[in-house]
Amino acid sequence: MVHPLKARRSAGRRQGATRSLRLTRKVIDRQRGVETCSACHGQGARIQTIRMGPMIQQVQKTCEVCGGTGQTFRQSKQQETLDVHIPKGAPDQHKINFSEKAPAPRPLA
Ligand SMILES: [Zn+2]
Repeated sequence: MVHPLKARRSAGRRQGATRSLRLTRKVIDRQRGVETCSACHGQGARIQTIRMGPMIQQVQKTCEVCGGTGQTFRQSKQQETLDVHIPKGAPDQHKINFSEKAPAPRPLA
């Protein structure tokens, strides 16, 4: 019995092969753009109430959601397919560097 798929794959390994890689990236949603931070309502700081026994102390802290800017960016996940060339003789765990794509995307599989 001849298995044509297997034969083609081993040939590709010798010559190098191109594989499609599906990635999910976080991108800033430009349609929604910048929004006022809902955690601090654009103040960039939040009042934290600390109870110390009978005393209640209020401390102003930098908002950790927006980092004190008072604004947040809507992010959406974008899926894209990249054609990746696997060089000749590359091992199975060969790591492909996507340095030109920032932030670094993570392969789904
Ligand atoms: Zn905030």
